[in-house]
Amino acid sequence: MQVFDTVVIGAGVSGLTAARLLAQAGQRVVVLEARDRIGGRTWSHRADGYVADRGASWIHGIDDNPLADVVSAFGMRTAEFTVGSYQPDGRPIAYYGPTGERLDDDAVQRFADDIRHFDEHLAAAVDASESHGTYQEAIETALAGLAWDVDRAERVREFLLHRSEEQYGVWAGDLAARGLDDDVIFGDEVVFPDGFDELAENLADGLDVRLEHVVTRIAWTPDGVTVSTDQGEFMAARATVTVPIGVLKSGDFVFEPPLPEKHARAISGFEMNNFEKVFLRFPTKFWDDEVYAIRQQGEAGKWWHSWYDLTALDGVPTLLTFAAGPSAIETRSWSADQIADSVLEALRGVYGDQVDVPHQVLITNWQDDPYSRGSYAYMKPGAGADDHDLLATPIEGVLHIAGEATWTEDPATVTAALRSGHRAAQNILGRELPFGALTEALT
Ligand SMILES: Cc1cc2nc3c(=O)[nH]c(=O)nc-3n(C[C@H](O)[C@H](O)[C@H](O)COP(=O)(O)OP(=O)(O)OC[C@H]3O[C@@H](n4cnc5c(N)ncnc54)[C@H](O)[C@@H]3O)c2cc1C
Repeated sequence: MQVFDTVVIGAGVSGLTAARLLAQAGQRVVVLEARDRIGGRTWSHRADGYVADRGASWIHGIDDNPLADVVSAFGMRTAEFTVGSYQPDGRPIAYYGPTGERLDDDAVQRFADDIRHFDEHLAAAVDASESHGTYQEAIETALAGLAWDVDRAERVREFLLHRSEEQYGVWAGDLAARGLDDDVIFGDEVVFPDGFDELAENLADGLDVRLEHVVTRIAWTPDGVTVSTDQGEFMAARATVTVPIGVLKSGDFVFEPPLPEKHARAISGFEMNNFEKVFLRFPTKFWDDEVYAIRQQGEAGKWWHSWYDLTALDGVPTLLTFAAGPSAIETRSWSADQIADSVLEALRGVYGDQVDVPHQVLITNWQDDPYSRGSYAYMKPGAGADDHDLLATPIEGVLHIAGEATWTEDPATVTAALRSGHRAAQNILGRELPFGALTEALT
């Protein structure tokens, strides 16, 4: 049996961040990863010069964000793309109304002003909501207080429902009223023309990462852990556990003895979402010029309502849309052709016969991935925002849970993964560590 100072479970951004900092501090560290690749939910498709991020794409705000500093220090190329957080405006967006006409600049301005005005009322409704209140209830409470005419209220309502779906991959009726509290962006957003998973490659450089090691059990005492995998056992003084919430809840990943009650309760307040990406590559560009995104309002946009123009990343006309929440659940068993046809039909509702046949379609399937079981975690009604941080409370100095769902301020992001891995390393070493250490070579 192999013995280490720390066993890190999961070679996503949180696990690799913790492992790198611990290894730099002189610890004997091993990273156990179930898949045949590193990166977890950062995973870039690369073929024939085409790069597409199947998992995370955006840094949602680069100001005062250590992730932005780390990727810059690694020399990773970024491109500004500030529509990744379902903003109503701020960058050019082509809106199409329920009857198909493109909204002029004044109409877009009025709509965006409505959203901003509504958000202030919504914040008050969220503050006043019961602990088991839902985001949908808060939306309705806020709308009732505004007494807008039916159409005006409906446009705002549908935008808010789509926000819940695109930001958290969940229908607003299943999301805690406070579930989008963290939805604040500081500075521009950026994406990665060469793929976000270069971050994991950089972090893993020099580390002892064992791929295709599926962890099934962690036996722990105050003296240490024995981690069981399908390729043998690993002993260490402690474990950093970074597997997604879906894996922690699955029953295929067991703690013996079970986690303390407060950790178990925190986990039960989260759920993995339903959120998939659909990339369409076309021979010609048939949509509006110089817009970051295209949005369809009304019933026609019930499922496919937002398309993001990624053409600037490599010059090939490319649109990205999402199956998010109810549409992801509904289309989960569909073939790629069925999904593509459905998206193209919606696009024809906007652009008619101009819509070309895509020469390439890429669709993700995170819902059926046994090592993520969804794309990221959301807060169920009844969960508290602090439950994220609570989950990361070290257990007897032996178990350290990290990962996107353990960071209250900005959960469900790569930033959260990085910060949570950094916090786990600090907790283990008992001292503060600069993020800058991550980009130094391992000795
Ligand atoms: C479609 C999609 C879009 C997203 N968009 C964005 C975005 O634009 N911006 C953003 O900031 N974030 C986004 N995210 C979220 C972001 O990708 C995650 O928050 C982040 O990558 C999570 O990192 P992590 O280290 O916490 O978990 P993971 O990356 O999931 O790492 C955990 C690792 O544990 C491994 N593992 C699981 N089970 C076992 C086991 N039994 N034994 C051993 N190993 C195991 C997994 O294989 C994985 O490698 C998106 C995610 C998805 C899927």
